[in-house]
Amino acid sequence: MNLFASPNTLATNPTLAVLGFKRQLVYHLHIWAFIAVAPLVMVQWKHGNVLLAALLTLFCANAALVIGFLRYRRTYFLKGRLFPILAVVCAAYSTTLNGHAGLYWAYPAAIALFFLLRLREAIFCNIVFVSVMAVVSFIKFPEADFWRITFSLGLSCLFAMIFAWLVRRLQTELTRLATTDPLTGCLNRSQLADILNSQIQMRERYERVSSLVLIDLDYFKTINDRWGHLAGDKVLREMALRLRKRLRESDQLFRIGGEEFMVVLPETRQKDADTLAHQLLTSISARPFLDEIHLTASASVTEVSQGETWSVWLNRADQSLYEAKSRGRNQVVNAPRLTGKPEPGTPQPLTDRPTDDTTPA
Ligand code: GH3
Ligand code: MG
Ligand code: MG
Repeated sequence: MNLFASPNTLATNPTLAVLGFKRQLVYHLHIWAFIAVAPLVMVQWKHGNVLLAALLTLFCANAALVIGFLRYRRTYFLKGRLFPILAVVCAAYSTTLNGHAGLYWAYPAAIALFFLLRLREAIFCNIVFVSVMAVVSFIKFPEADFWRITFSLGLSCLFAMIFAWLVRRLQTELTRLATTDPLTGCLNRSQLADILNSQIQMRERYERVSSLVLIDLDYFKTINDRWGHLAGDKVLREMALRLRKRLRESDQLFRIGGEEFMVVLPETRQKDADTLAHQLLTSISARPFLDEIHLTASASVTEVSQGETWSVWLNRADQSLYEAKSRGRNQVVNAPRLTGKPEPGTPQPLTDRPTDDTTPA
């Protein structure tokens, strides 16, 4: 079963792909736990262990609900918190009642915790679990068995913890690699739609206005032709550093094309974005790159309008950048404001170029 948001998600959105991976993991763990534990309800019932049978029934019911919620609502029933609690209680209680026959279930339960909980929560739960199992086995079994059980369970938890920690690091690293441009460290296009959409939602819900600035180096091709591609790469890296220096922590810098960058400025009106765009262009033209390459850039500034989609917003920025180029480069052009509410997904006609007043209606 595919629990990813859409068939294209894996290819286009690494963050959602990781979320999809977690869902798959939780989904399969609950399915197999259900299949393994359901027959035990009857076994314990037949042996007269009514409380244990009831606990196992609760475990199975929770597993079924988690599976159902993930399948049909794509949400976690009770945040997936009941599995670890019930698994730990059932394994400890079953060992108390059934001795070794119950003890065997402690191992998969302890390992599953690392895949269902956050690492810190799982470590805490496992310390509690191993301690409880140590007390139970001290009471139930001979001393030699108590030591064997405590150490083997502790070691299983340690191995599972190391594995889960490495998987998490790998996920973080893969997400970073998939969402950033390796040359400059800027965000790449995979995050574009998500981040612009979140700014649009802030505009629609809370009237918080964001702007974006597009910056394209002028005549960059000649830099490559004259100084070589490697020097061009170094210039792009330094360009990203210079831009980043001027930005706030909350601003997001993208490299959306070869020598084209985009800055998303949350809670920033067009007027302030225009001031920043001028500063950014100055930071590019004021000092030569690699000590001898003089460069300028052109920019466009666009405030998000009510009701527009991210592609319309970006399209307006693109058109204004094109205009900055055709007006002679090394300048900032402010995008005209939209009139009326656009049809979703359709590029909008542009109003006349605004005068000095760039604040929205
Ligand atoms: P304009 O002022 O109209 O923007 O002219 P331009 O030369 O900057 O733009 P054009 O689109 O004609 O050329 C862009 C150049 O950017 C061509 C390509 O070789 C170069 N480029 C794209 N990506 C990279 C890269 O990763 N490294 C280097 N060194 N060059 C790149
Ligand atoms: Mg260019
Ligand atoms: Mg370009």
